[in-house]
Amino acid sequence: MLSKFIDAHVHLNTLTEEKMEKALEYDTKFLSINTNIPFFESLEDQEKVILKLQEKYPGRVQYITSFDFRKWGEKDFAENAIAQIKRGLRNGAVGVKIWKDVGFDYHDENGNFVMIDNPIFEPIFKFIQENDILLIGHQGEPRNCWLPLEEMTVDSDRNYFKGHPEYHMYLQTDYPSYEEQMQARDNMLKKFPEIRYIGLHLFSMEWSIDEVAKRLEDFPNTHTDVAERVCHLQLQAKDNWEAVRDFCIKYQDRIIYGTDVIDDGSIPAHQIAEKFETLWNFHYDFFASDKTLTAPEFKGAFKSLNLPKEVIEKIFYTNAAKIYQFNI
Ligand SMILES: [Zn+2]
Repeated sequence: MLSKFIDAHVHLNTLTEEKMEKALEYDTKFLSINTNIPFFESLEDQEKVILKLQEKYPGRVQYITSFDFRKWGEKDFAENAIAQIKRGLRNGAVGVKIWKDVGFDYHDENGNFVMIDNPIFEPIFKFIQENDILLIGHQGEPRNCWLPLEEMTVDSDRNYFKGHPEYHMYLQTDYPSYEEQMQARDNMLKKFPEIRYIGLHLFSMEWSIDEVAKRLEDFPNTHTDVAERVCHLQLQAKDNWEAVRDFCIKYQDRIIYGTDVIDDGSIPAHQIAEKFETLWNFHYDFFASDKTLTAPEFKGAFKSLNLPKEVIEKIFYTNAAKIYQFNI
């Protein structure tokens, strides 16, 4: 493992010490992303946890704020969202997150799904653009979500959607399609080209590095992260090692490492710490070593990428340090 690195996509929603001890052991810093997820604590409570962690472990944790939809359908929805963003930034957040509930959960007065390019969000994006605030987005789902279970490319998606048929879009045909989700996100980026945007989870285009590359080319103010999607890079490396390696080298300044570990108290603290350690080592091996590996998510072996040291340093440290304002 690198002597120091940043896990730039985590959800630290508890004050347990074990993961912080592990972070000290590895000299790791965290970007914790507060998110308006129904089964998370409120955004206010997520923030309280982060502020306490920051106080106890100075310089170790940066965080991203967000806004909720309590005022959805009311005239001052956008105004209220902006007020929440301002409050988060005042408290030290380094950016704002918009989540996939936009596109899946909200409807207009005619009962149509409201997508991220809906005019209702424009005042918010205008505010973000004018004030040069970092926006990070998780729109849509992995493409597997729209496929039957047997056609899904990785077991992690297959198991998840088997257990959650309500989120399995192949079965929920009245929801927007994968293509509509991606198009809406691209429309928003076209409309607000100055926004500095992070397309989380490989822009939700994890199945094709060519599609990810297209977004990085079309939208020069964007970056991407690999959180929870490293297995999709590994799967593509199995068949086309060269292309995945070239992708990482070509976009070495635009790719950010993160695990997406959720520390919400549902898993014992020592197991969360172990999970971090296992993922960090496994992922580092994939990007940096020249081993032959297998992944739990699919069958077959693949070669590690053996990327040059300076590329590894950017993906695992420097890119996140710059964008998320860590003290180097
Ligand atoms: Zn996440």
